[in-house]
Amino acid sequence: MRPLGIFGGTFDPIHYGHLRTALELKQMLALERIHFVPCANPPHRAAPLTDGRLRLRLVEAAIANEQGFVADDRELTRSGPSYTIDTLASFRAEHPAVPLCLLLGMDAFLGLPAWHRWRELLDYAHIVVAHRPGWRAPEVGTIGEVLRERRTLKPADLAQSLAGRVHVQAVTQLEISSTELRATIRAGLDPKFLMPDSVRKVILETECYAESR
Ligand code: ATP
Repeated sequence: MRPLGIFGGTFDPIHYGHLRTALELKQMLALERIHFVPCANPPHRAAPLTDGRLRLRLVEAAIANEQGFVADDRELTRSGPSYTIDTLASFRAEHPAVPLCLLLGMDAFLGLPAWHRWRELLDYAHIVVAHRPGWRAPEVGTIGEVLRERRTLKPADLAQSLAGRVHVQAVTQLEISSTELRATIRAGLDPKFLMPDSVRKVILETECYAESR
């Protein structure tokens, strides 16, 4: 059965770095679809965030015409910190027999040991790490240990079990960050070509990044 991808983030705002990574992972790993899950209350980073409903609207605008990409509001409808373990548990309850893949950028993966109940994430899903070509995986430390025990070099393995493997996948790197995009827009500069026009349009209409935050 083709695995289902879960791509969480603040998406404040979503940009081509997120979208290109998701598309390449979907194609390379033969994922059935990818759920984009905007975070409501990120446990590991400082508020304030742009309102969750608006960030969801930007995600919806970005993926409106992309088959197999889904905007998913489950973290926005939950109260309390948005723990990924709870999100994976809810996907698992909905899809008891489908392989799940949690998609992470390398920066997020390296910070994993700080996440709530992080070791249990692999009971619910595989972890797929998108990295820049040529990057070498850590061989020591907690993350090195996880990679030694769980890593597979074969994407096909992700369809052979429901959870528990780690796969590191090279993808095209686009050095775009939401933080820099917010600063660009606040400075009155145009974010054109860094994000879909549909997203840019909503941002300009709502002036959601006009204020200093
Ligand atoms: P910020 O600048 O506000 O920290 P961000 O651009 O890093 O935001 P997030 O929404 O926090 O975006 O990231 C969601 C996920 O997307 C994370 O797993 C992160 O590693 C990944 N990601 C972020 N930017 C890129 C990019 N340019 N290319 C590939 N993956 C990215």
